[in-house]
Amino acid sequence: MKKVIVIYGLPASGKSTQAKLLEKKYGWQHFSMGEKLRALIKSGSDIGAKAKDIVENGLLVPDDIILAALGPVAEQAQSTGIVFDGFPRKQEQAQILDKLLADTGTKVSACLLLEVSGETVQKRINSRLSVEARSDDQDSAVVKNRVEVFEQESLPLCAYYEAQNKLYRLDGEKSVEEIFEKICEIVENLYEKSRD
Ligand code: ADP
Repeated sequence: MKKVIVIYGLPASGKSTQAKLLEKKYGWQHFSMGEKLRALIKSGSDIGAKAKDIVENGLLVPDDIILAALGPVAEQAQSTGIVFDGFPRKQEQAQILDKLLADTGTKVSACLLLEVSGETVQKRINSRLSVEARSDDQDSAVVKNRVEVFEQESLPLCAYYEAQNKLYRLDGEKSVEEIFEKICEIVENLYEKSRD
């Protein structure tokens, strides 16, 4: 069976970096909900217009918009495997995902939580400002909102995946290479367990 990996963690915890490395090594599609929403906003689509203010304030976009933004991810999961980055961000979204995947006979293989401190978040966001120029990185109040939203709404998601023995906590303070090495060990174990 193709793998379905969920990566989550605080803003700037390294989700996209690790997801891109997984895409490159295993050929699974990288699906970033943040990137998808930013593209929808830029394109001037209806969904983008609805999401714009919410994203710019660092709050969670409602699930109906998230569902519309997802597109054919379940089919992609089935055909190539997929790495979700920034989705699901709360239990309701995890349930939506489980249902979508069940319809194509797949399921979440593992959820990787990248753990970093608040100071690291601040430092990394400051240093990526000049590179990516994301509007939600510019204002420290918005960054603070994103951290709070993560702690209040997203962190409880751990329990959901922990109860299914699918949660893996990783030290996001380590180097990109060290974290990726650990992730690859987890992935190899998944393959051993499922023998495919
Ligand atoms: P980061 O994790 O660095 O904050 P992302 O690019 O993952 O950045 O997300 C940027 C913003 O997009 C979030 O602050 C939120 O407003 C919106 N967003 C992304 N994913 C979701 C989601 N699954 N549910 C609701 N809103 C989301």
